[in-house]
Amino acid sequence: MSTDDLEPVEDFRERARVWLAANMPPNIDAYFDRTDERRTVEDQLQRRLWDGGFAGICFPADYGGLGLTPAHQVAFNGEVVPYDMPYSLNVPTLGILAATLVDFGSHEQKARHLPAILRGEERWVQFLSEPSGGSDLAGVRTRADRDGDVFILNGSKIWSSGAYAAQFSMCLARTNWDVPKHRGLTMFLLPIHHPGVTVEQIRQVDGSMEFCQEFFDDVEIPVENVIGEVDDGWTVATRLLVHERMAVGGGSQYTSGRSVGHGGGGGDDNDLIDLLRARGLAGDTDARRLLAESHARRLVARHLVERVTGGLRSGALPAPAGSLMKLFTATNQARRVEIALTLAGPEAVVWPADAEGATEIAAGIGRATLGRQGIALGGGSNEIQRNIISERVLGLPREAAADRDVPYKDVRHGSR
Ligand SMILES: Cc1cc2nc3c(=O)[nH]c(=O)nc-3n(C[C@H](O)[C@H](O)[C@H](O)COP(=O)(O)OP(=O)(O)OC[C@H]3O[C@@H](n4cnc5c(N)ncnc54)[C@H](O)[C@@H]3O)c2cc1C
Repeated sequence: MSTDDLEPVEDFRERARVWLAANMPPNIDAYFDRTDERRTVEDQLQRRLWDGGFAGICFPADYGGLGLTPAHQVAFNGEVVPYDMPYSLNVPTLGILAATLVDFGSHEQKARHLPAILRGEERWVQFLSEPSGGSDLAGVRTRADRDGDVFILNGSKIWSSGAYAAQFSMCLARTNWDVPKHRGLTMFLLPIHHPGVTVEQIRQVDGSMEFCQEFFDDVEIPVENVIGEVDDGWTVATRLLVHERMAVGGGSQYTSGRSVGHGGGGGDDNDLIDLLRARGLAGDTDARRLLAESHARRLVARHLVERVTGGLRSGALPAPAGSLMKLFTATNQARRVEIALTLAGPEAVVWPADAEGATEIAAGIGRATLGRQGIALGGGSNEIQRNIISERVLGLPREAAADRDVPYKDVRHGSR
C-alpha cells in the first residue's frame, strides 16, 4: 500500500480524539508507578487500545499493527496526554524489543509474538548486561553451545528491569569463541520462566525491586529461537540499542504516549510553580531563576527530540545520532530533578505522599532524586554515548581497543 492510500493524518487524529474521550480513563499521573497492580491495569489499557483499533500504529499490518506512518503516531501522541496510558509497555517491550523483532524476527517469530504484545499479553525484557560489566556489551561471557537442534545456555545476566514480571527476553550470548568479540555473538528469543532459568529480584536504594539478575543452568533454546543469524547477534544488538536510544530519548515511532525521557522534558512546570507558591518562594529571585531554567530545558528538550527524530527519518542524521537524545535526556533529567530538589528543600525528604510529615506536592521529588542517574546508565552510560557521538556522528578517531581483532578465547579478563 502506498502512503497515499493511508488514512490522512488529520482524519486519524480526529477519529483518535473521539475514541480516546469515549474509551480511555483520565490521566492519573501514574507514570512512575511500577507496582504489580499497576502493571495489570496497564495490560488492560493496552488491550483496550487493541480492541479500539489504536494499538501498534507503526507496526506492520501483517503482524497486528496498523501499518501507519510516524506522522500518525505523533498525532496520536498529541491526543493521549489527558488520558491514562500503558506507559510501562512502551519501554522496553514496544519501543525496544518489539521494534527489534520487526527488524530481525523470522516470520514465525513475528506472527507468534507481535500481535500478542500489541494485545497486552506479553511483556519483554532485554538480557544484555552481565555482572562483569555492561558498557563493553560485545564482551558478554554468557555462552550458548550448539547441540543438534538446540543451544545450551549457561551464564548470568543482570540489571534486567522488570524481568520477574515479564514473559520473554532477547538474550545476547557468545556462540563462537574463535573469532573477535563482535563476531561470535547470537541473539536469542528466550522465554523467561523456563527450565534452567532462575530470576532473582534486587532491592534498590528506594526500596523498589524492579531490577533482576538471572542465572542460566543448561537452558535449552531451540535453534528456531535465534533472532537474525547465528554469530551475527552484534548486528541485532546494535539495532536494539538504536531503538533503545530513540525510545528512551522520547522519539520512537513504536510508543504511544510518554516513554522514559521526552528528552528529560517530560511532565510540565505547573507542579514546580505550585511548589514555589506553597513554600512562599514565588518572589524569591534564585527560586524564580531555577524555575526558568527548568522551563527552558523542557522546551529545548522538546525541540531537540523533534529535530533529531526528524533528521533520523529523513536520513540527514546517521542512526548513532540517537545518542544525542539519549545523552541530553540523561543530563537534562538529572538537572531538572536537582532543581526540583532545591526548590522543595526539606519537604522532599519524606515520602510516600501519605507518610507522616509528607506533603503531596514534594513527596515524589526525593524519590526521583535517588533514581535521577538511572537514565545516565540504562541503555548505555553517558560516557558511552559521548564516545558514540564523537566517533560515529562527528567522525573522530575510534577509542583504542586491545581486544578488537583478537579471538575472544585469547582475550584476557580480570586478573587472568
Ligand atoms: C535504569 C536502568 C535500567 C537498566 N535496564 C537494563 C535492562 O533491562 N537490561 C540490561 O541488560 N541492562 C540494563 N541496565 C544496565 C545498563 O545497561 C548498564 O548499567 C550499563 O550498560 C553500564 O554497565 P555497568 O553498570 O556494568 O557499568 P560498567 O560498564 O562497569 O561501567 C562503569 C563506569 O565506567 C564507564 N566506562 C565504561 N567503559 C567506558 C569507556 N569505554 N569509556 C569511558 N567510560 C567508560 C561507564 O560510563 C561507567 O561510568 C539498566 C541500567 C539502569 C541504570
